[in-house]
Amino acid sequence: MATTKAVCLICSRATADKYCEYHCKSFDKVISGYASWKRALGDISWVDYLTKLLDLQETGSSIKDIIEKELNIQ
Ligand SMILES: [Zn+2]
Repeated sequence: MATTKAVCLICSRATADKYCEYHCKSFDKVISGYASWKRALGDISWVDYLTKLLDLQETGSSIKDIIEKELNIQ
């Protein structure tokens, strides 16, 4: 087996992707949120979107973990 063992960038659980199953779900929410923000607000960059989302009180902590990680990757 030549598969590389990977761990979630946030919680270090073993994963086949950059995020574990749990954080993948949060990441999917961030992605789908971006699509609806673009529909509502027109052109907004990924980084602007993430920054604004991070400032919202209603953004959950697992989502904020994702956002902080994504902003570091940029
Ligand atoms: Zn994780």
